[in-house]
Amino acid sequence: MSLAPEVASAIDRAVDSSAAELSSLSARIHENPELRFEEHKACAWLTEFLTTRGHTVERNVAGLPTAFRARAGKGAPRIAILAEYDALPGVGHACGHNLIATGAVGAFVAAAEVVKSAGSGEVVLLGTPAEEGGGGKISMIEAGVFADIDAAMMFHPFDRDLLAHIALASLWLTFDFQGKPSHAAIAPHAGKSALTACLDTFRLIDGQRVHFRDGVREHGYVTNGGQAVNIIPEHAACEFSVRALDTTELARVRAIVERCARGAALASDVEVRIAVRHGYKDMINNMALARRFGAHTGSLGRQPRERDDSIGAGSTDMGDVSHVVPAIHPWLAIVDRGEALCHERRFAEAAGSTTGIGTALMAAKAMARTAVDYLADGELRAAVSAEWSARGR
Ligand SMILES: [Zn+2]
Repeated sequence: MSLAPEVASAIDRAVDSSAAELSSLSARIHENPELRFEEHKACAWLTEFLTTRGHTVERNVAGLPTAFRARAGKGAPRIAILAEYDALPGVGHACGHNLIATGAVGAFVAAAEVVKSAGSGEVVLLGTPAEEGGGGKISMIEAGVFADIDAAMMFHPFDRDLLAHIALASLWLTFDFQGKPSHAAIAPHAGKSALTACLDTFRLIDGQRVHFRDGVREHGYVTNGGQAVNIIPEHAACEFSVRALDTTELARVRAIVERCARGAALASDVEVRIAVRHGYKDMINNMALARRFGAHTGSLGRQPRERDDSIGAGSTDMGDVSHVVPAIHPWLAIVDRGEALCHERRFAEAAGSTTGIGTALMAAKAMARTAVDYLADGELRAAVSAEWSARGR
C-alpha cells in the first residue's frame, strides 16, 4: 500500500466530520424510496449535499434526468466511484441503495480533500440511476461516460463481507402464445389452447435443466393464464429470467429456452411471439484493485473474504461497467450472516439501521482510500491494467 498514513487519516477524519450529514442523507433516501428512473428526490438531496461542499455537479448525465457527475482533482488517471439510489416496488430500500449512495458521496467528498496530494489524477463521482432493472449504467456507458475513466468501484450491502463475489449475466424472455378460442364444454375440439403451450414451456424447460452448467438460473411466471374458465384460452403469456456465469453460457441457455417455447407452441398448434430484453453482463472483478480495497478495509477493522460459493449471486449493471473498465463491486455486511438477504423486508430495515450507516461510512473511508491510493500508486495501476489486459484469456 503506498497511501501515506497521514493521507489515510485525513480521509478518515473527513468522513467522520461528515458522518451526521451523511447519516441524515441516508435516512431521508431510505424513508422516501423511489423506483428506477424516478429517483428525483434522492438525486436532488445528493447533489445538494455535494454543492454545499463546494463541488460542481453535472446533472442529466447521458440524458438521464436522475444521473449526475462530479469531479475532484485534475487530469489522468481517473477513477470513478459509483452511487446507486433506486428502490424496489413494495419493499422499499430492500437492496440498501441508500447506503450505496451515502458511501459513494462520503467517499468522494473525503477523497476530494486529499486528492491533490496524489499528484495528477481525478476522482469522479457518478450518480447512476435504475440499477433495479433499468440499467442506468448501460445508458451511461453507451453515452461515453466511461470513455475517460481508468477504473471504477462501488460497494454493496450484504449479509457478509466479500471482496469479489460473482454477479450473473442476465436477460429476460417473454413468450406470447396465440391460440384459438372455443367453448370449453360445447366445442373443446374446436379450440387451440394458448395456456397449454404456456404451461408446457415450463415443463420442457424443467426437462432441460440437466443440461445447464453450474451457476445457471432460470425462473419464470405466467403473466396471462387465459380469459375465462369456459373458454379454451386464446391468449397466454409467460416471462422468464435467464442468468448464467458468463454471456456465452447465457446465449446457449437462451437458445434452449426459446426452443422449448417453440416446441410447446408446435405441440398445441398455436403461435408464439418471442421477445428478449437484455439484462446485465457478469461481473469481472479486478482482483488487484479488490485486494487493495480489502487491505484498506482490513486496516479499518474488517477483513472480507474474496469469495463465498455457499451463497447465490444476483445480477447488476456494474457487471456491464466491469466489461468496459477494470472494476470492483465489494459486498459489506449490514446484517449478521444468514439473517437477511437483499430484496427482503428485514434487509430494508437493516438499510435504515445504525449498523447499516456504520458500514456505509466504513465503505466511504475504504473507497476514498482506495481511489486516492490508485491515483498515487503507479505499481497498483500497472497491476490493475495487466490483469485487465489478460481478462478472458
Ligand atoms: Zn442492489
